[in-house]
Amino acid sequence: MNSELTIPTLGYGTAGLQIEGVPLAEIASRFGTPVFVYSLGAMTAAFNAYRNALTRHKAQVFYAVKANANLGVLSAFARMGSGFDIVSGGELTRVIAAGGHASKVVFSGVGKSSQEMRQALDAGIRCFNVESRSELERLNRVAGETCKAAPIALRVNPDVDPKTHPYISTGLRNNKFGVAFNEALALYRLAASLPNVKVSGIACHIGSQLVDSAPIVEAAEKLLGLVNQLSAEGMALDHIDLGGGLGIRYQDETPPDTADYLAPVLRVFEGRHEELCFEPGRSLIGNAGLLLTRIEYLKPGAEKSFAIVDAAMNDLARPALYDAYHEVVAVTPRDDKPQRYEIVGPICESGDFLAHDRALAVREGDLLALLSAGAYGMTMSSNYNTRPRAAEVIVNGDQLHLVRAREPIESLFALESLLPET
Ligand SMILES: *Cc1c(COP(=O)(O)O)cnc(C)c1O
Repeated sequence: MNSELTIPTLGYGTAGLQIEGVPLAEIASRFGTPVFVYSLGAMTAAFNAYRNALTRHKAQVFYAVKANANLGVLSAFARMGSGFDIVSGGELTRVIAAGGHASKVVFSGVGKSSQEMRQALDAGIRCFNVESRSELERLNRVAGETCKAAPIALRVNPDVDPKTHPYISTGLRNNKFGVAFNEALALYRLAASLPNVKVSGIACHIGSQLVDSAPIVEAAEKLLGLVNQLSAEGMALDHIDLGGGLGIRYQDETPPDTADYLAPVLRVFEGRHEELCFEPGRSLIGNAGLLLTRIEYLKPGAEKSFAIVDAAMNDLARPALYDAYHEVVAVTPRDDKPQRYEIVGPICESGDFLAHDRALAVREGDLLALLSAGAYGMTMSSNYNTRPRAAEVIVNGDQLHLVRAREPIESLFALESLLPET
């Protein structure tokens, strides 16, 4: 297997690039392109890295559903023993449909509706990660109507800089997320006085694509200070939730491996009885997946040459949204001299690019794989330009499982109607 590739179960075989035991060319011919392909082996390895790093402390992993919400993916993590971090009622419905248990669900997000609160209370989730005073008061009211006490953690904003992209940095004082650190104690006192909520934990999530442990350790230390203040006031917590955020390698990033990332965090809580919770998304699925696409046209130009592919920004929004980098590799190696290409889709937007200035030896009709596309790929996709969303396939050894069929065009406007004739 080629060590340049960011996906551990990807490598070149006699039939070109293959994932686990299956050539990507075979997946393209069976299911068409564009198609997201996920490796169950890589998902399992990523999950086991958390499990193995957490054996010495009471701990639970809650996979962050928004990274990749496919039912096949969720069912795989549920069977591995994962819990789930959700940010909407829709994600809760998915988790249950995938065989997950509400008792292993935590509910994050700044804008939970009353309806979502009722749904989560009826299901019996493990914890609401509450992000404001108004939300706490509303949850108390809604829980009162359903005659259930809502288990809560306050999501505290520890005001640490995760040094990541501003769009995915969430733990600074000026972010919309969480309760300000210096207001948390007062809010906990309020929570303890409310009849329909039960103080159960504390939570934070400082950002995504973190490439070293220092910010999360700083956040952990701040949280511990608060936990000690709370217990001095008789508020004992049963869990401490450090959120997600561990980064992956897309290009030349060097994030710590999971054990090295977690070790200094675990040291902060050594000897404590609270369960430690983590909400990884990207680090469980990002480098288990790729987007497979076919080159429709090569368009040479004086300034730039374009490889126009059948995937677009509606399938993989990260390059257009964050200027994110995804490795692009040819599925079938050729001896031709590599040329530099802009990798672009068919959408009518100049922002519709997937990669800039890549050296590739390719011809029209060839397949390309965009690596590290397992997280925030399909979940951020859209139907812009009335493009049906890509199919999704999970590979397990030499087995292929179509876990989402390509959308039929008619389904894209099935909920629409013509105006009546006048
Ligand atoms: C998005 C999110 C996560 C997952 O973040 P990753 O960077 O994908 O690990 C975890 N917790 C919360 C509250 C989130 O919003």
